[in-house]
Amino acid sequence: TKWVYTFGDGTAEGAAEMRNLLGGKGANLAEMSNLGLPVPPGFTLSTEVCTSYYANGNVYPDSLKADVDAALAHVGALAGRRFGDPANPLLVSVRSGARASMPGMMDTVLNLGLNDITVEAVAASSGDARFAYDSYRRFIQMYSNVVLDFPHHHFEDVLDGFKADQGFSLDTDLSADDWKEIVARYKALVAHELGKPFPQDPHDQLWGAIGAVFGSWMNQRAIVYRRLNQIPESWGTAVNVQAMVFGNMGETSATGVAFTRNPSTGENALYGEFLINAQGEDVVAGIRTPQNITEVARIGAGSDKPSMEKALPEVYAEFVRIAGVLEGHYRDMQDLEFTVERGKLWMLQTRSGKRTGKASLRIAVELANDGVITREEAIGRVDPAALDQLLHPMLDPAADKKVIGSGLPASPGAASGEIVFSADEAELLKTQGRKVILVRIETSPEDIHGMHAAQGILTTRGGMTSHAAVVARGMGKPCVCGAGTIRVDYAAGTLTSGGVTLKKGDILTIDGATGQVIAGAVPTLQPELSGEFATLMGWADGVRRLKVRANAETPLDARTAKNFGAEGIGLSRTEHMFFEGDRIRSVREMILADDEKGRRAALSKLLSAQRSDFQQLFEIMDGLPVTIRLLDPPLHEFLPHTDEDIAEVARGLGVSAAKLAARKREFDEFNPMLGFRGCRLAIAFPEIAEMQARAIFEAAVAAQKTTGKKVVPEIMVPLITGKREFDLVKHDIDTVAKQVETETGVTLEYQVGTMIELPRAALKAGEIAETAEFFSYGTNDLTQTTYGISRDDAGTFLGTYIAKGIFAVDPFVSIDTEGVGELVRIATERGRAVRPNLKLGICGEHGGDPASVAFCEEVGLDYVSCSPFRVPIARLAAAQAAL
Ligand code: PEP
Ligand code: MG
Repeated sequence: TKWVYTFGDGTAEGAAEMRNLLGGKGANLAEMSNLGLPVPPGFTLSTEVCTSYYANGNVYPDSLKADVDAALAHVGALAGRRFGDPANPLLVSVRSGARASMPGMMDTVLNLGLNDITVEAVAASSGDARFAYDSYRRFIQMYSNVVLDFPHHHFEDVLDGFKADQGFSLDTDLSADDWKEIVARYKALVAHELGKPFPQDPHDQLWGAIGAVFGSWMNQRAIVYRRLNQIPESWGTAVNVQAMVFGNMGETSATGVAFTRNPSTGENALYGEFLINAQGEDVVAGIRTPQNITEVARIGAGSDKPSMEKALPEVYAEFVRIAGVLEGHYRDMQDLEFTVERGKLWMLQTRSGKRTGKASLRIAVELANDGVITREEAIGRVDPAALDQLLHPMLDPAADKKVIGSGLPASPGAASGEIVFSADEAELLKTQGRKVILVRIETSPEDIHGMHAAQGILTTRGGMTSHAAVVARGMGKPCVCGAGTIRVDYAAGTLTSGGVTLKKGDILTIDGATGQVIAGAVPTLQPELSGEFATLMGWADGVRRLKVRANAETPLDARTAKNFGAEGIGLSRTEHMFFEGDRIRSVREMILADDEKGRRAALSKLLSAQRSDFQQLFEIMDGLPVTIRLLDPPLHEFLPHTDEDIAEVARGLGVSAAKLAARKREFDEFNPMLGFRGCRLAIAFPEIAEMQARAIFEAAVAAQKTTGKKVVPEIMVPLITGKREFDLVKHDIDTVAKQVETETGVTLEYQVGTMIELPRAALKAGEIAETAEFFSYGTNDLTQTTYGISRDDAGTFLGTYIAKGIFAVDPFVSIDTEGVGELVRIATERGRAVRPNLKLGICGEHGGDPASVAFCEEVGLDYVSCSPFRVPIARLAAAQAAL
């Protein structure tokens, strides 16, 4: 097996398409080298080294050492140096690089190869002893931290102490001898704390760093990240070893990161940040405020300093050229890392840039319009889930806002919540159902869980490419970063800005679209969608086969759904309508009446309300299909609980409270989800279904008049286990239809169908389809009953199940294609065998989940139905599934 792949000097053993083997970073370094771009020479230990290492009890492949030595010699030859050579040493960086970018893993060690002897050679050859010793102390610090697991702050303490003693305030105040002294103190500290000296042998250093990268594949943070992002453990990571180039060799040296287009808006303009005389991670770490790359994109705290365009015009011109080459070559927006060493530009990384949903849309549509990619590719480029961000509310511009500060608009959307200052706290409050804004000076991979738990993230330091910005954008969470006027005091639990001090627990609002930070809560507005959104949706609609409907029962939801392009309502949960106004009292009377007469009296109060509900739905949907489901309450949700409520219902029914309480006890259930719900209610109390059917038919007649369109209601029976139940209920519905026809003189067109949400119904679908005109898969209940896992109680153990790899994802979020999906397939096949034109849809939560939509396409359903805000997601997912 070939374990090691070299690159540099215009050639490479790897290429971009070898990503699985070389990881993203390694594959793209090879590709850039193949393109003849300036890449420092280096080599990649493949992901197979990692998998082999773990498969063989943490032992490297036999030939690896020799392969690495050969690669080091090759790189040294290209760089004109030799690794470990006391007179002319090759220094390297060591970086991890998995297939998918993975925060949480060991990231980078720079300047590796420095020791007490080689540092002198570097001082001599660079003519800059200060630079050499500064680099050496950075190396000791970084290596100790990421390889030896030695906390960073110990070094900070030493440095701060030294500076205080000498009366220095800035790092730039330190001379070569000062850094030499710091190096001595750092080494003494490490030796003292770890009980052995800091490694001097460059080969020991290198293998230590390689081991740390492979080890970090299995650290807790990486494991959590893989779980959250469904990255298989079996992929492994690669390790990249590359000749060092230095951005900290004076005023003509620099380091930076850039995007070929704006990652927040998608605007086609080079966009990025850099720091003069700085090394590697200084930009990403957000420790110093970076400067802009171009003159046009002058935003943020760095805008008062010269851009790279001004400061290093020749380098800038070369960088613009390379950015164009890379974007054209990869046919996508690129995220670039570079270093300038004494006026010479070096490319350290290119990859497809992370972007907001908004940017992803705009870039895909513009690239397609420019003919760089096809429309089909554009459809495939936009992650349906990312559309979520565009559909989220924004702050009401008319609302009163107490703006206390502002930062960079790092990730769009607006959010309010209680202020918390730590990730753990964010997570804790989230579990208590509270909404929080995570406020940090800066974030690091250790904060990921808190960022997940928070509604939004605010940092006071760092640029648009800082950790907080990049991660929040990926998560689609609102984020404001680098809000430098805000002072955070972790110890006191306060933030202060513009003369206002807020404490932990106070409500804060952030607007990730403008960068504003606001005290208190602010009302929000529905978003307006961009032209690109409509364009891409239009393209998607042109290729998809699946129809997309919405689950909606309120007029607002129905209108939202229609605006988002819903082609009908696939599920209207009538029980949700029963909580409106004071209807719940009549509902309780209806359930608890102990005879039919009492029930009918209560039902007659509900009839007119239901009729107007349905009429509004029909009118809003204006001729589009509307599926209305008969009452399906888990009964406990409707029963009165307080003494007051019981007394009120008793009064309504004209019985004593004691009698009513006794009646209520008859309905107590151990397991309401498997209890007296769904069609069981319509079978025990046919008058309920009759009332609803009447309301539906009368509403259809009325809406037909107001809209001038034919209304064909689809009436859906929930939770059946077989044909017999369905037929009984259908018979009652048909009877009511005849009555309404006679009363109104209007001939009704309607369909009666059923939910398939119990395993038995799926198995008996052939028989059921003899009389049912459509099926809608209720995959929430079908998942619950197929697994025998309560949809309400799964939370307590689901995390463990996912952690132990039993579930890759929560089966209530993304359909279990193997088990629950098998039942869907069976029911589809058996139903269609009996009734070839049987209409089939899905209305469980899965209807808005892209992976589940793909499953529905594969099975050949006619439509998916999902919550209104997910309609665009489903439209796009359906198009992607059809391609
Ligand atoms: C379902 O079970 O999937 C469904 C849509 O119905 P509900 O969620 O109302 O039980
Ligand atoms: Mg259900």
